[in-house]
Amino acid sequence: MGVREGEGGAGVSVAGRFTELYGYAPEGVWAAPGRVNLIGEYTDFNDGFVMPLALAHTAVAAVARRTDGVLRVHSAEMGRGVVELAVEELVPRRGSGWAAYPAGVVWALRDAGHPVTGADVHLTSTVPTGAGLSSSAALEVVTALALNELFGLGLGRERLALLAQRAENAFVGVPCGVMDQMAATCCTEGHALLLDTRDLTVRQVPFDLAAQGLRLLVVDTRVKHALGDGAYARRRAGCEAGARALGVRTLREVPHAQLRDALSRVDDATVRGYVRHVVTDNHRVGRTLALLDAGVLRGVGPVLTEGHASLRDDLRVSCAELDLVVSAANAAGGLGARMTGAGFGGSAVVLVEQEAAEAVTEAVEEAFAAAGHPAPVIFPVVPSDGARRIG
Ligand code: ADP
Ligand code: MG
Repeated sequence: MGVREGEGGAGVSVAGRFTELYGYAPEGVWAAPGRVNLIGEYTDFNDGFVMPLALAHTAVAAVARRTDGVLRVHSAEMGRGVVELAVEELVPRRGSGWAAYPAGVVWALRDAGHPVTGADVHLTSTVPTGAGLSSSAALEVVTALALNELFGLGLGRERLALLAQRAENAFVGVPCGVMDQMAATCCTEGHALLLDTRDLTVRQVPFDLAAQGLRLLVVDTRVKHALGDGAYARRRAGCEAGARALGVRTLREVPHAQLRDALSRVDDATVRGYVRHVVTDNHRVGRTLALLDAGVLRGVGPVLTEGHASLRDDLRVSCAELDLVVSAANAAGGLGARMTGAGFGGSAVVLVEQEAAEAVTEAVEEAFAAAGHPAPVIFPVVPSDGARRIG
């Protein structure tokens, strides 16, 4: 798969594979990145703040229009041949496996009144799946961007993100917030994306790690998260219960300065923990923003570690492997670390001095080996561009 060798090459080889599959050349090739969330977890369905960065890892799609109502999708990673569907017969939550992600986008576009009359799609992705790095949004957004351009729909990035989210919520049936899709559409190279999920306003926050001699590592624990078992939905419902108990529409409306008073008004101990997490994590996004604006990137480390403790103890979405990354990385000289994404496995982020990156990486690997866990996959984050045409 040529994707790892750079986008120009990927554009050619993905287009070539499309031609082999479908017997004619695609009309274009598009890419959309996975993301890692620096800070602000489980805040996006509470109207709160998040701060993701796009990864250099992308989903790439070669696409051509069809006018006969047929949608054909193929994934290089699935190796089970072409999935063929009729656009008029797309029905939410009827399964069809991985193909539900691109098909859901077609459904969401059509349901919003956009004349998408069919397509041939070949996809390939370097975003690790189920690692909390949002391979699903990369797939949705690359499909949405391609169809937007090919059918001349003229939809802006924010609208595309919302339609991609609708595909995942309503068609696939995963109740995710809008962070992943907004990151995949709106991130820019060298920046973190400050996103206010209440009104979708964004700000590009310069995040030049190298200039400060720092590195941000992703540690994929390779523990596959399974969100379908309702753990995510329960957190969501608990946050809604907390908002009801406090008489606010969402937990976003609870000021950090009033946290103590708010907690005294929530009877259920589990819900109290959720409230404390959401209010303090929104506050941590604000603190991180202030540090980045002041150019004090090192100061973000302890904020990450605090965020991890909150996710572990108050929201209870961590797991042994994620906790081990954080403790081993910090013990080996890391500046701070936390789980990222929905948790229960998936990935952690670790902020380190460039010179310490190797020692921290080795320490985490050794800790995993000593605990009998399979080796993690560790790589540095290169803050990258959001979705774009590449061929
Ligand atoms: P995450 O978004 O954190 O990676 P999800 O469970 O939300 O995890 O999405 C993973 C799912 O997305 C996979 O199970 C698969 O259905 C789909 N997917 C991701 N990458 C690909 C790919 N390259 N080809 C086909 N399907 C993919
Ligand atoms: Mg996902």
